[in-house]
Amino acid sequence: MRQKSVLVVGAGLSGAVIARILAIRGVHVCVVEGRNHVAGNCHTVRDQHTGVMVHAYGPHIFHTDDAEVWRFVNRYANFKQFKNQVKAQVGGGVYALPINLHTINQFFGKTFDPNAARAFIQAQTTPVIAPARNFEEQALQTIGRDLYQAFFKGYTEKQWGRAARDLPASLLKRLPLRFDYNDDYFSHRYQGIPEAGYTDMVARMLDHALIEVQLGVRFDRVDARGFDHVFYSGAVDGYFGHSYGRLAYRTLDFETRSYEGDFQGCAVMNYPSADVAYTRITEHKYFAPWESHERTICYTEFSRDCGIGDIPFYPIRLVHEKQMLAKYRDLAAREAGVSFVGRLGTYRYLDMDVTIKEAMQIARTYAKKAGVAALPAALEAAA
Ligand SMILES: Cc1cc2nc3c(=O)[nH]c(=O)nc-3n(C[C@H](O)[C@H](O)[C@H](O)COP(=O)(O)OP(=O)(O)OC[C@H]3O[C@@H](n4cnc5c(N)ncnc54)[C@H](O)[C@@H]3O)c2cc1C
Repeated sequence: MRQKSVLVVGAGLSGAVIARILAIRGVHVCVVEGRNHVAGNCHTVRDQHTGVMVHAYGPHIFHTDDAEVWRFVNRYANFKQFKNQVKAQVGGGVYALPINLHTINQFFGKTFDPNAARAFIQAQTTPVIAPARNFEEQALQTIGRDLYQAFFKGYTEKQWGRAARDLPASLLKRLPLRFDYNDDYFSHRYQGIPEAGYTDMVARMLDHALIEVQLGVRFDRVDARGFDHVFYSGAVDGYFGHSYGRLAYRTLDFETRSYEGDFQGCAVMNYPSADVAYTRITEHKYFAPWESHERTICYTEFSRDCGIGDIPFYPIRLVHEKQMLAKYRDLAAREAGVSFVGRLGTYRYLDMDVTIKEAMQIARTYAKKAGVAALPAALEAAA
């Protein structure tokens, strides 16, 4: 039987996982990537001036409850344990996020125990008569006006460039509220950062005799000729020439500064106030506490609407975009021989673990349908 040959567009996590899963089943994979590096938005690079490993497109912490995904990434990287503990500067004080008992006690000048704090916050919230229709209503129902205005309103409006009343309630549901002193941002079982960076991890996934990677190559639909299938992790509207319009994203600008010694003493400091133009400052060396550096490098992060030529970061997904997305999904479903994958191909915010899980599933489904030999689990785990 002729060896199957597929084209993967994009060498981010989606593309790399699909390429690996298919290559170990004997499929020849060509990966084209428009940028001059692999790993997509998880890209890490060592800053030449300070020697610090920088998360080039914003901070990335790996967190998952999925044992299979965790085993998979650990085949290509040595993960060091990392707990994300974010701080926020509010009204001249520094507080811990996500909001926990320490934040509540510090902010209100109290010494509440968990039950007293719960009752206190409950008394601050608006009663739930109907489900929250937007971010602001959700916040008022769950944390009350004082905490909402101090920690969430300004930050969220800067991040999304829209009034909190025009944003979905679901955005707040992602953020925990704790009545103990646990200030870990994520509560997943497995959390860490690859010691040698995400780019090294993705490069190892792509390092296989049946995978050919071409960097600096932008995909054009004619490039699909001759391949049995295409996995496309670029923007779905871009694939169809933006025929129904452009799906809206937020993009980020980073102002970079380096200093002697340390700058802020933690990896991420949020600035929720509407009076500060930026959303947060990331000090990258704190993502690698196992390293030591005399100098430090910080990224100050500004958020704005994504224009033509900017890098798309966060899909906006308000009503208008969802309607447009439905039309593109329809076109995508009818496009023979192409699977639209990943955060840009499906126009969703996806954490890395979800990206990897979906990529594994889509590659295995393709392999099965295409009659490519399935691998016993133990063999796949070792390949
Ligand atoms: C600021 C920020 C912080 C984040 N932090 C975390 C975190 O802490 N933890 C977490 O789990 N997740 C985090 N994420 C999510 C994470 O970045 C995504 O899960 C992951 O990048 C998705 O991988 P992907 O391959 O689908 O997309 P991408 O990483 O975007 O990769 C797609 C690739 O395709 C290439 N491409 C696109 N179109 C073309 C074309 N036409 N031709 C050739 N190449 C093309 C692009 O250049 C890109 O390299 C964060 C995201 C952002 C924006």
